[in-house]
Amino acid sequence: MNDTSKLNIAVVGGGPGGYAAAFLAADMGMKVTLIDPEVNPGGVCLYRGCIPSKALLHVAKLIDESRHAKNWGIEYGDPKIDVSRLRSWKESVVKKLTGGLGQLSKQRSVQYVQGKAGFVNSTTLSVAKSSGGDERLTFDRIILATGSRPAIIPSLKLDSPRVMDSTSALDLKDVPGTLLVIGGGYIGLELGTVYAALGTKVTVVEMMPGLLPGADRDLVLPLHKRLEKNLEAILLNTTVAAMKEESGGIKVTFDGPDVKEREKVFDKVLVSVGRKPNSELAGLEKTKVQVIQRGFIKVNKQLQTDDPNIYAIGDVAGEPMLAHKASHEGRTAVEHIAGHKVAFEPNAIPAVVFTDPEVAWCGLTETDAQKNGQEIRVAKFPWGASGRALTLDRTEGMTKLIIDPKTERVLGVGIVGVGCGELIAEGVVAIEMGALAGDLELCIHPHPTLSETIMEAAEVFYGHATDIYRPKK
Ligand SMILES: Cc1cc2nc3c(=O)[nH]c(=O)nc-3n(C[C@H](O)[C@H](O)[C@H](O)COP(=O)(O)OP(=O)(O)OC[C@H]3O[C@@H](n4cnc5c(N)ncnc54)[C@H](O)[C@@H]3O)c2cc1C
Repeated sequence: MNDTSKLNIAVVGGGPGGYAAAFLAADMGMKVTLIDPEVNPGGVCLYRGCIPSKALLHVAKLIDESRHAKNWGIEYGDPKIDVSRLRSWKESVVKKLTGGLGQLSKQRSVQYVQGKAGFVNSTTLSVAKSSGGDERLTFDRIILATGSRPAIIPSLKLDSPRVMDSTSALDLKDVPGTLLVIGGGYIGLELGTVYAALGTKVTVVEMMPGLLPGADRDLVLPLHKRLEKNLEAILLNTTVAAMKEESGGIKVTFDGPDVKEREKVFDKVLVSVGRKPNSELAGLEKTKVQVIQRGFIKVNKQLQTDDPNIYAIGDVAGEPMLAHKASHEGRTAVEHIAGHKVAFEPNAIPAVVFTDPEVAWCGLTETDAQKNGQEIRVAKFPWGASGRALTLDRTEGMTKLIIDPKTERVLGVGIVGVGCGELIAEGVVAIEMGALAGDLELCIHPHPTLSETIMEAAEVFYGHATDIYRPKK
């Protein structure tokens, strides 16, 4: 193991990968410099990603619930939406969290440099400081955690305030009458959900035959059904061929076999067609770091690049581009720098789509098992048989376990339903601990909760679920 107190580390980028790495390195006794253009750490996740989107989604859920409450004999009337107060509240959440990270940074004696870093060589950075001037700093090791930015389709680039990316959509300048969301991935669906709840007529266009491409279809179906009710339209197998600004909005031309209306005008358009890694660091060519397909930085299981002094973590180092993957990679990189024998080899990185209902999965998916020709058994528990789901009036959910038929080990968990983003953590623990379906069945789950559906899916696997009856064949 290295004498960590002698190590001088730079972390470039203050997102969940970067600040987690910087704080752990400082806790392990290293001298740490954290460089980021913002006034405090936080990165995309806190400033223009996970946190502001979830704050707005919470409000969207409240609005939807209040509308739905008339089914239970309670009427609230139409909500009055004060967009500027809503925006201020969301910004206060961001400020609180990022300010807290600034404090934590100081408490750990992490040197925080506000600016943008480029390379002079493998161990020296040149930092263009936000306050002006350049500074050259030399380190033993450098961790790149520069994250990602919204991807742009050149043919759809239109310089207009009516065309938004996820960052400007979260700014919530106004509530447009109509909005086209280009891209049916999780960011487009989450932000579309927010605007729809606020009163916008939202249309989603997706070039693939289904929403959330890559996720198991049975998990997406209940979400699709609800979105069909809450959104103006979902256009699948459809691409946007052109966009043109007109006096009244953006005229969009659609293309594809299922297109019924070829041209339509929208007040605003949100382009959410994926994210691009920030790997174009100045002077990177002066190091041995390799940039591979789609612009990701090439790393090994220790998150070390082809240049042994330089590590890369988070969105810039590959899929899945998720905050919790970034911070865990940060841990591995720092521990490796400290001389520990470590590797980033998770069996389950959870994915959560915070729509309503939520969709969550971890470990092996049915889609991937089919692609790999892997033999699996799937046990599903429908939430229509869950007491808790009935009390919430949300029975469209489903919990499924993907199980190795020979060992009975849980290989994957997929859930759709309200709040399942919290439930999926049990799946992660089960997979990482090598649990068998029988372990989940025997663990006593609290009643009445949605967590019982995981236990009951395990019971389904053994053919004796208490709350559903399947006659023996
Ligand atoms: C709308 C939206 C919602 C999302 N929701 C979720 C969610 O619910 N859950 C989830 O897990 N993930 C979510 N994500 C993804 C998540 O935000 C990213 O996976 C995560 O932020 C990646 O962390 P990171 O540390 O790799 O980099 P980032 O958070 O991207 O931070 C990188 C930082 O590096 C800085 N930087 C770049 N270049 C330099 C340089 N040369 N010098 C200094 N600093 C530099 C950037 O300015 C930035 O501050 C969401 C993303 C978006 C856009």
